[in-house]
Amino acid sequence: EPGAQVTALVIGTGYGGSVTALRLAQAGVDVHMVEMGMAWDTPGTDGKIFANTTSPDYRSFWLRTRTKQPLSNFLGFPLDRDVPRYTGILDAEEMGGIVVYQGRGVGGGSLVNGGMAVTPERSRFPGVLPSVDADEMYEVYYPRANSTLGVATIDPAWFETTEAYKYARVGRKHAQRSNFRFMFVPNVYDWDYMKQEAAGAVTKSALAGEILYGNNHGKKSLPKTYLAQARATGRVTISPLHRVTSVTPAGGGYTVTIEQLDTSGAVTTTKTVRAQRVFFAAGSVGTSKLLVRLKGTGALPGLNNEVGNGWGENGNVMCGRANHLWDPTGALQSSIPTAGIDNWAAGGAFAEVAPLPTGIETWASFYLSITKNPHRGRFTWNAATGKVDLDWQTAWKQPSITMAKSIFDKINATEGTIYRTDLFGTYKIWGDHLTYHPLGGAVLDKATDNYGRLHGHPGLYVTDGALIPGNVSVNPFVTITALAERNIEKVIAEDF
Ligand code: FAD
Repeated sequence: EPGAQVTALVIGTGYGGSVTALRLAQAGVDVHMVEMGMAWDTPGTDGKIFANTTSPDYRSFWLRTRTKQPLSNFLGFPLDRDVPRYTGILDAEEMGGIVVYQGRGVGGGSLVNGGMAVTPERSRFPGVLPSVDADEMYEVYYPRANSTLGVATIDPAWFETTEAYKYARVGRKHAQRSNFRFMFVPNVYDWDYMKQEAAGAVTKSALAGEILYGNNHGKKSLPKTYLAQARATGRVTISPLHRVTSVTPAGGGYTVTIEQLDTSGAVTTTKTVRAQRVFFAAGSVGTSKLLVRLKGTGALPGLNNEVGNGWGENGNVMCGRANHLWDPTGALQSSIPTAGIDNWAAGGAFAEVAPLPTGIETWASFYLSITKNPHRGRFTWNAATGKVDLDWQTAWKQPSITMAKSIFDKINATEGTIYRTDLFGTYKIWGDHLTYHPLGGAVLDKATDNYGRLHGHPGLYVTDGALIPGNVSVNPFVTITALAERNIEKVIAEDF
């Protein structure tokens, strides 16, 4: 309510925000969460909450009139289509020559992501978060994150036999014949539910291709895990379709300005509340843009010059390979990936064997690689336009392509196969225009102290992917969750 007093206000309901809200509430603190996206708890016109990946509709994109699908083409045909402008679930935000995909709604990225829940190899951790005690992370916070998120690995016997993972078995065979290390990738999908989908006993979700625009059944997204537990404490309230636009000091606390949106994205009301403490959990891009603007406009003058720095895209790059006719990858492909190829040490790339859930045989193997791209972008305040700019360049993806080629050139040579050139445009091999994994912009121990307290303004914290300086070496959400667990434990002990 306008004019309300809040003990702890959390901006955003993704991983960082959900961990923070749950642990504060369990410590007896009342929490209010503000989320610019929708609640995603009500079925749409077709009786389902979320749209299918193969048929994007009004629910699929955040305030766009035309879809912007990560795979823009297939067999020479452009895939994008017109949709009504709506506060949909996936934001394809274009900045500095890169499209940054992000989830919008209560649950943040957990609503749209592939659920791949990967803890980085311990030997790589000092390169990911140099100021964090690795022993504590691997003994306490990674296990806590994995168990609360409900992470599990596929039953290997089922993997060997189900039609739905033929594409992953083909991916494994090709990786191993080129002497790469193959690994199962854990996931938050309910594997028992998926087995029942395959048996025809329950409504299909992963086996119906649901993923990018939400998952109607088996995925344990945050509203089923951290946020369910947070709500059960009775101390957490959430305002969907509310967007924070300003945070500024006032009488020992902060005045927070919030816009209420309707589903066309129009602002219907602007409210201010008073908060003793504010946790920025708007995601790497959301938090960085807010902080850079608040510093640039003088609303938070004490923030230091590290704010906006150290942004990376986790080296994401995609590609497809065309297999021989005797190597079909299957018409039925589970939308939930569970296989990976690790060539990080030798080539700087970790590739997941991704599905192409088109419902038809494609003879394609498709991959999302995470690479050790050294480039870092920076968010800056542009007073002339009144906007935050990101200095990133499309050409900065070249090291990622080179690293991904360390895997796929070799596989193509061994198998006598070629790259697909029909997935990202005409005659374009590399999906180098996008990221699913924005990280950094308010880096731990630089823009904040070693526990996410923003320098210059006591009572302000960063709790999300903005803390991580650009690369995790694997998919990021387990690390974002574990880091948030570590930081909030310290903050509760010392600041409350
Ligand atoms: P987010 O989860 O992005 O949450 C931020 C929230 O804040 C959002 O809900 C947003 O709407 C809200 N917000 C932003 N600004 C404001 C504001 N001003 N006011 C109010 N609310 C605001 N990672 C993995 O580990 N494994 C995967 O398999 C995987 N697959 C992915 C697939 C896709 C298509 C995408 C897009 C991402 C994927 N990711 C995956 C990445 C992962 O989802 C993100 O790293 C993660 O969600 C980031 O968590 P976060 O807490 O930093 O922020």
